[in-house]
Amino acid sequence: MTHHGRRDTTEEAWRELVSTARRTAAEGLVVGTSGNVSVRVGDLVLVTPSGVPYDRLTPEDTVAVDLEGRQVLGELVPTSELPLHLALYRETDALAVVHTHAVHATAVSTLVPELPLIHYMAAAFGGPVRVAPYALYGSPELAAHMLEALRGRTGCLLGNHGTVTYGANLDQAYDRTAQLEWMARLWLTAAALPGRTPALLSAEQVAEVAQKLKGYGQRDDGTEG
Ligand code: 13P
Ligand code: ZN
Repeated sequence: MTHHGRRDTTEEAWRELVSTARRTAAEGLVVGTSGNVSVRVGDLVLVTPSGVPYDRLTPEDTVAVDLEGRQVLGELVPTSELPLHLALYRETDALAVVHTHAVHATAVSTLVPELPLIHYMAAAFGGPVRVAPYALYGSPELAAHMLEALRGRTGCLLGNHGTVTYGANLDQAYDRTAQLEWMARLWLTAAALPGRTPALLSAEQVAEVAQKLKGYGQRDDGTEG
């Protein structure tokens, strides 16, 4: 890629990263500067800076690190959850990562070791979404617990902390967070009725959905289905 081509790609990725981070706040998945977002561009990882309100971020604030966490762009301190983001880029095919403190998902993380199979959309995560045991925010232990909880999954909960999802781009990573929060809210709602327990799906039923979801939506060639 030419020097300019690379710069344009990074600028575009930063714009998308900032708009994704703003969406997490606008749609109530985080409050204040909680949570963080990253996107991979080749060997660079663009990340939100630590503790900076997302509405203040401008193109000049671009923060990028390499896969070892060495800062290669920007003056602002990268997110404190760098270990978690970098672990995902090293160990999975993630190209974008979203971390939030979404309230229903975080509530679920304090109640169960995995989100019960309340809805077929669990298939979009590869099966029941697990809860990683609590560890200090920003610690390598938290990153290790998260990787374990994410085995075969595209999202997990962090115990007494929040959510992590990843995807092939920022929109996919964001949508997975929104779906996860929705599913957590659904389970809490159904489980809250005194004297009743929600019916759950079997692993087989969810696996069947996973197969079918591969063909979900419009045809790949853009013609109507
Ligand atoms: P940062 O502001 O450093 O990204 O931290 C927010 C957070 O959610 C830590 O877990
Ligand atoms: Zn957090």
